[in-house]
Amino acid sequence: MKGSFSVTVDIEDWYHIPSVCSSPYAVYRSVNEFFEKWDGRYDFLTEPTNRALNILDEFNITATFFVVADTVEHYPGLIESIVERGHEIACHGLHHACKIDPETKMPLMNCEEFEQKTLLAKRILEKISGQKVAGYRAPNALVGGWMVDSLERMKFKYDSSVSVNSLYNKTDSSLKTVSSFPYYPVEHGLEAGHDRNFIEFPWAYYHNVLKIPASGGPILRFLGAPLVLNGLIQSLKRGHTIFYFHPLDISCTKFPSIGNNRPLYWCMKGKLVEHRIRHIFKSLENVKKLCLRDYQEI
Ligand SMILES: [Zn+2]
Repeated sequence: MKGSFSVTVDIEDWYHIPSVCSSPYAVYRSVNEFFEKWDGRYDFLTEPTNRALNILDEFNITATFFVVADTVEHYPGLIESIVERGHEIACHGLHHACKIDPETKMPLMNCEEFEQKTLLAKRILEKISGQKVAGYRAPNALVGGWMVDSLERMKFKYDSSVSVNSLYNKTDSSLKTVSSFPYYPVEHGLEAGHDRNFIEFPWAYYHNVLKIPASGGPILRFLGAPLVLNGLIQSLKRGHTIFYFHPLDISCTKFPSIGNNRPLYWCMKGKLVEHRIRHIFKSLENVKKLCLRDYQEI
């Protein structure tokens, strides 16, 4: 295998998903509205994050954590505990709000608002971590080409949101020129272009007749480890690739059952998924892991 791979972890809680907050079909318009109205337990994130940190230590992996910046306010000490273990902190938005419409892919906010909120998130994360925050992952992987230009203006160095596959396209581009290895996106778009001071790290896929997404997350929960592992192995033959999971994926606690549109979203999670993650790390033990901040060649 010629590539190395990067382990990435998305730090968000159950209410950050689009069926609960901050999407056109959410129960709450925003996370702020959720906190104004919700009076039950909300923290289902801290416990599985600590377990995720232990798994990474066990396999000696330095990961990139894409953090929703409002967790700094609601989970005191959590982000510090990730930083203490030597991991990279990157940005997963201020409140995990969708930036483009999941159906039409049209912007849900203008450039100015995107830059204002994302810069605030970047500053919050830089202050808490003492690190320069160079990476971005779009909430719900809904990413538009215009966002990449903004990210570059805000001095981000890379994005990792694009997934090329035959099942869905969450971007505003056809992705015809994109594969599973890092590339420079064109200006104003997400197709592969030429040398630029900004890199996209797209996700892994398994290509048989169809291209099946294979970087982790819900695919790992619903379709299992063999598909993800085969997709990672195949993607590694093409070059560097990405694995990701959420601490929520390994949570054994039942989440509050509110949310529109996604009744079965959390039906597969917990120890089973933790075993799958360990199996993937064990199987790829001899493959070089690279923290995204250390990636240089392209
Ligand atoms: Zn997310």
